[in-house]
Amino acid sequence: MPATTMDQLVSLCKRRGFIYQNADIYGGLQGVYDYGPLGVELKNNLKAAWWRSMVYERDDVEGLDAAILTNQKVLHYSGHEDTFSDPMVDCKKCKGRFRADHINGKCPNCGSTELTEPRPFNLMFKTAIGPVDDGSSFGYLRPETAQAIFTQFKNVVDSTSRKLPFGIAQIGKSFRNEITPRNFIFRVREFEQAELEFFIEPGEDEKWHEIWKENRIQWWLDQGLKKEHMNIYTTPKEDLAHYAKACYDIEYQFPHGMEELEGIANRTDYDLGNHTKAQEEMNLTSHCHANPDSTQKLCIMDDNNKWVIPFVIEPSMGIDRGVLAVMTEAYTEEDLGEGNSRIVLKLKKHLAPIKVAVIPLKKNNEQIMSKCHEIKQNLLKLGIGRVALENTGNIGKAYRRHDEIGTPLCITVDFETIEQQPESVTIRDRDTMEQHRVNVADLPSYLREYFL
Ligand code: ATP
Repeated sequence: MPATTMDQLVSLCKRRGFIYQNADIYGGLQGVYDYGPLGVELKNNLKAAWWRSMVYERDDVEGLDAAILTNQKVLHYSGHEDTFSDPMVDCKKCKGRFRADHINGKCPNCGSTELTEPRPFNLMFKTAIGPVDDGSSFGYLRPETAQAIFTQFKNVVDSTSRKLPFGIAQIGKSFRNEITPRNFIFRVREFEQAELEFFIEPGEDEKWHEIWKENRIQWWLDQGLKKEHMNIYTTPKEDLAHYAKACYDIEYQFPHGMEELEGIANRTDYDLGNHTKAQEEMNLTSHCHANPDSTQKLCIMDDNNKWVIPFVIEPSMGIDRGVLAVMTEAYTEEDLGEGNSRIVLKLKKHLAPIKVAVIPLKKNNEQIMSKCHEIKQNLLKLGIGRVALENTGNIGKAYRRHDEIGTPLCITVDFETIEQQPESVTIRDRDTMEQHRVNVADLPSYLREYFL
């Protein structure tokens, strides 16, 4: 059974070093978290899995790593300056501010029904750029990674000679001044997104929207999420953003409820249309903002030698929500009988922060320690990820710790290892807790087989 309360995860994350409240020693910064020693590994592994599936395993996607600081014009013509806002209500009594769509006509803080009319509240972080802070020169911290993919579209096409269909993938930080950050790392003010903009011929959009929906569901299953804990929500036509033709949300059963993990939108020609020059020549289907500032035509030659502005399918996921989902799914409390129990994080092995822990049976024994070091260095060469030398406590505590952080295999070096030939060690499996002996000489092939 996965985690049922957020507290189970928050407590594990802090205790073992996955995620901490940012600026903890000063009482925190609301909606901002830091990833600790194990969190950074898990997050990197999730990002690597996405990149591998989006870029390396395909022949039609290129990568990009664009800047976070964003030119004001980009977010003006994208529509964010005008519309990237939530309708907010203020409580006249306690002065609290809440998202109008999150409350039921009643202040969740003090219960008062004396609320202001909903007013838009822009979610972008504006920041001064350059030495003078007089309001004349400013930009934004990007609220999504997608816009740079659109503004760099022409450069990528020209430098790679891509033809439709093709995509540009990017992973990076985004910032939103969420009015009510909550539910741990589910809704935060600084987060990471992994976004693909997939460019296609107009008219092929419905087909590709279905293909990407299926592709993304399968990817989440491959990360260990169970089908029965997921839901595909189709946004009703009347609730769609004005530029979107259709949208699916992949939802997951988080401890606080079934909520969005990833959106897959058919964004038509709205984004490239907004940022292109000479909009009137482009046969745009969307209602775009007039753009006198752009210096580029964001179009591509199709198979019939016609210039077109492609349509876009956008799968967009939150990495932090992804981390929360895979941890929720993996969290297991197991009853071992006779009053014993354990917490075990049954992460898929490619996501596990530590792949193998090498544990000395006796940490004060020089021969055992030196064999542990040697084995660790040899295993690192396999490129399977982090191999940790665990010399902090006794063997029971070490197994307990590595169960809780999801280490798939523990290798224990004992007296038999150093005293008998051929040298051998025990390998313990996280999920079955079974142990068996393997010759040290066979470890590389054993682990290669297991992990790669
Ligand atoms: P929500 O409705 O939950 O506010 P959204 O529909 O505004 O999300 P998108 O703009 O579609 O979100 O962003 C794509 C993805 O980025 C989301 O599916 C989510 O995983 C992630 N994301 C968006 N906002 C946040 C946030 N404040 N904290 C963490 N992740 C976020």
